[in-house]
Amino acid sequence: MSRKVPKRVFLTEDQMPTKWYNVRADMKEQHDPYINPGTMKPIELEDLLPVFCTELAKQEGDCQTRYFDIPEEILDFYKIYRPSPIVRAYELEKALDTPAKIYYKFEGNNTSGSHKLNTAAAQTYYAKKQNLKGLTTETGAGQWGTAMAMATAYFGLDLIVYMVKCSSEQKPYRKAVIETFGAQLIPSPSETTNVGREILKNHPNTGGSLGCAISEAVEKAVTTEGYRYVLGSVLNQVLLHQSIIGEECKMQMEMIDEYPDIVIGCAGGGSNMGGVMASFMQDKLLGKTNPYFIAVEPASCPTMTRGKYAYDFCDTGHITPLAKMYTLGADFIPSPDHAGGLRYHGMSPVLSKLYHDGFLDEARAVVQTEVFDAAVQFAKYETILPAPESAHAILAAIQEANKCKESGEAKTILFNLSGTGNFDMGAYTAYREGKMKNYVPSDEDLAQGFASLPKIPGIQE
Ligand SMILES: *Cc1c(COP(=O)(O)O)cnc(C)c1O
Repeated sequence: MSRKVPKRVFLTEDQMPTKWYNVRADMKEQHDPYINPGTMKPIELEDLLPVFCTELAKQEGDCQTRYFDIPEEILDFYKIYRPSPIVRAYELEKALDTPAKIYYKFEGNNTSGSHKLNTAAAQTYYAKKQNLKGLTTETGAGQWGTAMAMATAYFGLDLIVYMVKCSSEQKPYRKAVIETFGAQLIPSPSETTNVGREILKNHPNTGGSLGCAISEAVEKAVTTEGYRYVLGSVLNQVLLHQSIIGEECKMQMEMIDEYPDIVIGCAGGGSNMGGVMASFMQDKLLGKTNPYFIAVEPASCPTMTRGKYAYDFCDTGHITPLAKMYTLGADFIPSPDHAGGLRYHGMSPVLSKLYHDGFLDEARAVVQTEVFDAAVQFAKYETILPAPESAHAILAAIQEANKCKESGEAKTILFNLSGTGNFDMGAYTAYREGKMKNYVPSDEDLAQGFASLPKIPGIQE
């Protein structure tokens, strides 16, 4: 007889993992190297030092170290809001009348409202340790800017946030929170950088994009004494820090004698998906188990489902290194009608490689009105208002649970509830009023972005 499983599985502070897991150490093949846009040669550690703090640049290139000890100061910070619970969605299961068991990991229990604080704390700590004065970054939907504002306030560093202009207008309260924690917020594109001025000259009415805000933040960092740049997703170091999610999940599921058949995360740049799947992917890479991984993305920004696996710039201004990844082209600007996050043109090189090689089993594109249907259904039964990003994962979990209802299989589904949607009321209102549109780019729209893919002699003609 199966043991009664509690609604929530908590870890105590003492049980919290003290190491990050680096999935690259168990990958048979690594992603293709980053390329320096100046020399078109593979990047060296020194190339990264003007942009990233030294310890993070080292982590970025490390495919050997399997486990990294989490420094004491970061553990202390984590303990303010971690370990996070795994929750059994009994009420949702009942409403769906499914034999599937649905679990979610809840990463929204902090003021940033997302998992991003896990890497914000780490990156800020290493910058502080290097005696830097400040950091620059970009933010789209606002969670990353908020997480960085919180972390820099705690560790005592200055922060400049370039916020995608249309988001800063749609979400004034995000701006207010970021400023409350003491950071400086600049809508992007702006007149404060060469890249920003150039973009404004050519597109004076643009609402901006993440790729453009990244260019501005990087330029600001490399031209300001004592500053470095931080990025909240995509990078290897970010996936490393987010592995705390998967490490906790694995322990929590073991405590209740469970193991997921299906692991689901939404994917914008790939960090929460990379985090929740980390420890289960290790099992798969080592041939121990075979969970099915699903990354869910918006149909309006279909990076993995319709993008190309190619070298591309990580930013619109073409100043960042080139990465081999699934991409829609750095010039792709997603529809401003799309409500929440997940609007980046590229994808984590590690996730891209795992998907390309078949370890990450499926990428699924979904339209936003269905995402919000799922969000509202989840909110009703589990009483958490999900972030629109996270609701992509909820929708896929519901789809999988419905398949189980048809087949009669009692699969165990785990999804990451990456955050809460308390600042997304504009989007929820548009949805309720029936004003939300499902924009799906045509092949011609995508061709424009692909045309911007760079040529690299001997590598990508
Ligand atoms: C930023 C964000 C995402 C998307 O970023 P990933 O790097 O793909 O995880 C998803 N959910 C929430 C709540 C976020 O803040």
